[in-house]
Amino acid sequence: MSLPGAPFLTRAGGELRFDGHSLADLGRRFGTPLYVYSRRAMRAAFDAYERALAGRPHLVCYAMKANSSLAVLQTFAQAGAGFDIVSGGELTRVLAAGGRADRVVFSGVGKTRAEMRQALLAGVRCFNVESEPELETLNAVALELGRVAPVSLRVNPDVDAGTHPYISTGLKGNKFGVAHADAVATYRRAASLPGLRVAGIDCHIGSQITQIGPYLDALDRLLDLVEAVEAAGIPIHHVDVGGGLGITYTDEQPPPAADMVRALLARLDARGHGHREVLFEPGRSLVGNAGVLVTEVLVLKPGETKNFCIVDAAMNDLVRPAMYEAWMAIEPCVARAEPPITWDVVGPICESGDWLGRERVLALQPGDRLAILSAGAYGMTMASNYNTRPRAAEVMVDGDAVHLIRERERVETLFADERLV
Ligand SMILES: *Cc1c(COP(=O)(O)O)cnc(C)c1O
Repeated sequence: MSLPGAPFLTRAGGELRFDGHSLADLGRRFGTPLYVYSRRAMRAAFDAYERALAGRPHLVCYAMKANSSLAVLQTFAQAGAGFDIVSGGELTRVLAAGGRADRVVFSGVGKTRAEMRQALLAGVRCFNVESEPELETLNAVALELGRVAPVSLRVNPDVDAGTHPYISTGLKGNKFGVAHADAVATYRRAASLPGLRVAGIDCHIGSQITQIGPYLDALDRLLDLVEAVEAAGIPIHHVDVGGGLGITYTDEQPPPAADMVRALLARLDARGHGHREVLFEPGRSLVGNAGVLVTEVLVLKPGETKNFCIVDAAMNDLVRPAMYEAWMAIEPCVARAEPPITWDVVGPICESGDWLGRERVLALQPGDRLAILSAGAYGMTMASNYNTRPRAAEVMVDGDAVHLIRERERVETLFADERLV
């Protein structure tokens, strides 16, 4: 079976390599825990969307909460991407990395007035508004600044994305978006407010989606609304179908991005909306398989009922297993010939929830390095300093080049803003 992350991630002569670089060597050189990203893998994932959209008015907005390290943002900005942001902090970050404000869409169910002001002054492309009260507030903030805010309503299409409940966002019971039944009235209200300009419509139905069907259902629901809103005399320019395409962690087989895009374009054409600008907001599918987390085995604790392999990465570095019970592949950086046994791979944090992989069959010795695969999305961005653990260093490989893109955090900086009483 091929590794998640192939063709950039390979095993040759027992050695795991990312874009040709030995992960064991990178771990030795930069220390562990260490995130390693492949710039070429990120570009390839982005290009797959771009190629499928060639010849169409479109904008692929990278959902930067998946991985917001500056060099990652720079990689996508240079490729011509837009960005989907969910906070003022993300706006500051993406501008610092060379992203263009006029390619930024601002999502999120709880934007503050300060964030609205910041985004208006920067000149973002669109606000994805999630409720009528948010419309009123945005209108007031825009009028105070003498600006007009371009808006799109995030509609809750009430379709089941068929994914984990924590990452399913397009059902009636979710906190996200304007209910489908209220959308036309909310568009009328938006069109009546002088500080707003209706620009588009959007949705985002969930994450780690592995089928095209839910996207087509959501698009149909959006197009029904576009037709109703335009019949009410309010033109809608773009259709934003959100993000959420899944990746392979173990045996998932999500459709290639190009297939998903083509199916949606075909549906737009079939319904007479082929001329519209279409926006996508992919996060995980652009970076997830373009990153791994390298960690070192500290202690092996074979036991009566379980064997524990304690490594130097923990839930603070990579929370997906603890938070979502996510299964992530764990591979030795250098394969051993000895017969493997079954281990629970856990971190050193004082929590039983601090695990990275359960019941993994591995041949290990202390000091070995392991790679946790598919860690490029929702890895570093969800890292914390629990247990006063400095966050990991990050390296980006790009052909022959190896760039340290984030230094390992220092303990002193963790409490630099604190004061003794
Ligand atoms: C998180 C998010 C995305 C990206 O989701 P992925 O599953 O990482 O592709 C896109 N749009 C919005 C509004 C989001 O909140």
